Amino acid sequence: MGFESLQVHNQLKSLAAYGGKAFNILKTTQMLNFVLFGPPGAGKGTQSEKLIALYQLQHISTGDIFRAHIKNQTPLGQKVSSLIAEGQLVPDEITIAMLEEEVDRNPDAKGFIFDGFPRTVAQAAALDEFLASKGTAIAAVIALDVDQDELTKRIAERQKLTNRVDDQADKLQKRIEEYFSKTIHVLPYYEAQHKLSKVNGIGNIDDIFAELCKVVDQF
Ligand code: ADP
Repeated sequence: MGFESLQVHNQLKSLAAYGGKAFNILKTTQMLNFVLFGPPGAGKGTQSEKLIALYQLQHISTGDIFRAHIKNQTPLGQKVSSLIAEGQLVPDEITIAMLEEEVDRNPDAKGFIFDGFPRTVAQAAALDEFLASKGTAIAAVIALDVDQDELTKRIAERQKLTNRVDDQADKLQKRIEEYFSKTIHVLPYYEAQHKLSKVNGIGNIDDIFAELCKVVDQF
């Protein structure tokens, strides 16, 4: 190798090393945000709890926040209670504003697990824009894959344990319809960004969790 090309070679090497370091610094200081995605009864709540315990991420479940508002009879709760009881989606505008407020309430979070959000393509686009304004992004979307028969069985079981009004058969039917008409389009949205990972959501809770961890551990 001639002197000049050796110089170029060394410059490139140091540039690569510097680039690597810069990348690591960025990686360790960046927030890690995941979306846990799936139809009603897919196990998002159960798996979110396990994920936040292990990775110390902040859990944001829009369903839980809405239910807290309803329980506390806040103006927002009063506005959305009948929609939720019927199994319909809350309008995007309301949901997005609530979500953004919740993120802003946790400025020190290492990252978030979004559970039950986004449920429409408009929500997904708003989330991307909002996170970008904070210099961060969604790292991955993990979709729990569960077929419809299994979902109906699980919610029938859950109905015996909790008294969610929207777990009644006709309301549940509406929630499943909302999922297949509006929410499912969120999947190709993230697939186009190469961020989608599907995990089989049927089987032992710990085995499913292990599969989720494999995805999270890539980051
Ligand atoms: P599920 O068991 O159906 O996943 P959730 O607890 O996530 O239930 O949500 C319960 C209800 O809250 C939904 O059926 C819907 O009415 C409302 N909701 C929750 N998240 C959203 C959202 N991102 N967009 C619109 N509505 C939402």
